[in-house]
Amino acid sequence: MTEVPLNDLRMQLASIRPEIDAAVAGVVDSQQLIGGPEISGFESEFATATGSEFAIGVANGTAALSLALEAAGIGSGDEVIVPSMTFAATAEAVVHVGAEPVFADVDRASALLTADTVHAVLTDRTRAVIPVHLHGGVCDMDAIGQLAGTHGLVIVEDSAQAHLATFEGRPVGSFGAAATYSFYPGKNLGAFGDAGAVTTSDPGIAEQIRRLRNHGRSEKYLHTAIGYNHRMDAIQAAVLRVKLRHLPEWTTRRRSIAARYDEAFDTTAIRPIVALDGAEPVHYVYAVTVNDRDRFMDRMKQRGISTAIHYPIPLHLQPAFSAFARSDDSHPASEELADSLVSLPIYPEMTDDQVTRVTEAAAY
Ligand SMILES: *Cc1c(COP(=O)(O)O)cnc(C)c1O
Repeated sequence: MTEVPLNDLRMQLASIRPEIDAAVAGVVDSQQLIGGPEISGFESEFATATGSEFAIGVANGTAALSLALEAAGIGSGDEVIVPSMTFAATAEAVVHVGAEPVFADVDRASALLTADTVHAVLTDRTRAVIPVHLHGGVCDMDAIGQLAGTHGLVIVEDSAQAHLATFEGRPVGSFGAAATYSFYPGKNLGAFGDAGAVTTSDPGIAEQIRRLRNHGRSEKYLHTAIGYNHRMDAIQAAVLRVKLRHLPEWTTRRRSIAARYDEAFDTTAIRPIVALDGAEPVHYVYAVTVNDRDRFMDRMKQRGISTAIHYPIPLHLQPAFSAFARSDDSHPASEELADSLVSLPIYPEMTDDQVTRVTEAAAY
């Protein structure tokens, strides 16, 4: 019995191999390895796909976050609200710019940050909020946008798991000052290595990020800011341009697999994470909560089904962030989710038979 993996990048490659080979060969032949037409081509195509004026290709999703925060003027002395249920990078980037991450709880049903959980941890030093579209779900950007407007907060959307997701018909990433993406290989849009992007419709932020990613350079020998080497390389851009063309069809397939899971689990003790009204998620992972997770995962493993946990330790309980945890930190939903979430296989190349194997193995 072959294993049903969580994701299968080799199958994805097989489905687009000639296009990928031609794209990579083009960069190799040109020897334009940093910057150049593949980068600018990808940036303009990705901006269009995500409904923003500008996309800036960068080295990875974590650099994208810190560049977006820095370009939006966030730094020392500022508090930035992040969900406690997210990947560590969201809070790491806040620390990288010298600001302080403040953890907020998430909603139990959607596992997402909400306006209420943000409101609960606001202080007079709060300058920004990072809604994370976790699992490919979509935060309530109406309510969070309204709260941010009232309190003068900068919004940076962490869209690392949510390429092409929409809220009320509008693409995620178009609601804040900037949005950040990861193209880590396993993400819905994955490079052949590390890569990321910031999207924005603010020309000043776009300009600042272009400068900061490339050593603070304004012109060839003129450095007008202390920047970084946070550039995306051209081979990644060439690969991403090929994959971006397939992303809409891949996203449709993820949605149809998720719909089959939803239906199969409807009358069971497996409780899928729910999408908000108006949200069109993209199912980076298909997360459910179960009662006895260890037993569930064991049983799935015995039946050849891979599972994983996104994420088992909320950030306010991670040793790395202990300096930022507050004595009154209470994030019951994040803690409960950390103990009960489990992610099931979902990827565009998954066959209907594999989906059936998962639903049958999971059935109580
Ligand atoms: C993957 C991810 C990141 C970081 O992206 P890298 O490209 O790995 O640096 C940030 N936030 C979230 C929510 C992620 O899933």
